[in-house]
Amino acid sequence: MIRDSAGHITHFYAYISDISPLKQAEEKLQRSHHYIQNVVDTIADPTLVINIDTYRLEIANSAARQTYCGGASIDAEMTCHRLSHKREVPCSGEHDPCPIELIRKTKAPARVIHKHFDSHGKVIYAEVSATPIFDDTGERVVQIIESHRDITHHVEMEQQLTQLAATDRLTQVFNRMKFDDELVEQIEWAKQQQSALGLIMFDIDHFKRINDNHGHDVGDRVLQEAVAVVQKRIRKSDVLARWGGEEFMIITPLADLAVVETVAEDLRKAIAQHQFPQVGRITASFGASMLHPDDDARALIKRVDQALYRSKREGRNRTTVSP
Ligand code: GH3
Ligand code: MG
Ligand code: MG
Repeated sequence: MIRDSAGHITHFYAYISDISPLKQAEEKLQRSHHYIQNVVDTIADPTLVINIDTYRLEIANSAARQTYCGGASIDAEMTCHRLSHKREVPCSGEHDPCPIELIRKTKAPARVIHKHFDSHGKVIYAEVSATPIFDDTGERVVQIIESHRDITHHVEMEQQLTQLAATDRLTQVFNRMKFDDELVEQIEWAKQQQSALGLIMFDIDHFKRINDNHGHDVGDRVLQEAVAVVQKRIRKSDVLARWGGEEFMIITPLADLAVVETVAEDLRKAIAQHQFPQVGRITASFGASMLHPDDDARALIKRVDQALYRSKREGRNRTTVSP
């Protein structure tokens, strides 16, 4: 502004700046954002573009909003771990390996399986495929694009099959195959921890007579009932398995000799005092032993089997402990 000597404004300057190129560039950018959003919205699987420094979502498609937020919009602060894991810290570890971590190391696409939670808190197993997006130099990864394929049905089927393969059909406890694996693992763990490990074996006495006198179906019921009697009396950490026809094993981790002997005797008495439908009283013979430092599974089983055999020989319905 220009003033006269009295201070009145007499003239002013005006600059006209043409900002239309800036405006046009802004509009173009917005159109391309829209375009990208439309493209990702057509992808059926939840798809995200994630900033690898902040873990924040740069883009989330409508399937992601639908699955993880019930269709609601996603705030600018939202991170990938909060969206799909409902957790404030980034993924880590064996169960939820972080694809960003993997891509930071390898700069190559990564594929992991994650346990996610949908907007209702329901578990979804997702196969997460992640691809790096590089900066202009092509050196630094700045974002990843992640797609989540729902494989819940597949994972649940696999879990069911694994459980089925480990379970005895009649009694619903572990079968011999699972017992063998479990014993090897428990022995390894006990040796590592230098902790006690007990093994108890029992065999129903004169079971053949039960079948002969009452029929095979009643025999089956007796096996199921005997398992129920035992299961009620052992700890959650003890492993009960059907070893053969009417022979069972119990692995007792962290139990010393006195405890193992007490458990075996308690179970023997519980079976002897139980009223079995249609059959009445039955008995079982027990053998028990402890893991020795130089034992493998076979050596431990052999000692327990010999202890059980001695109980049979000495009149049945008794416990023999072979320390
Ligand atoms: P012991 O006191 O010496 O152990 O005599 P036992 O008659 O119990 O032993 P033996 O080994 O002679 O017979 C076991 C019987 O168990 C024979 C077999 O027919 C029966 N058995 C094996 N599996 C099953 C099953 O799943 N159901 C039924 N009902 N019987 C079974
Ligand atoms: Mg028997
Ligand atoms: Mg037998």
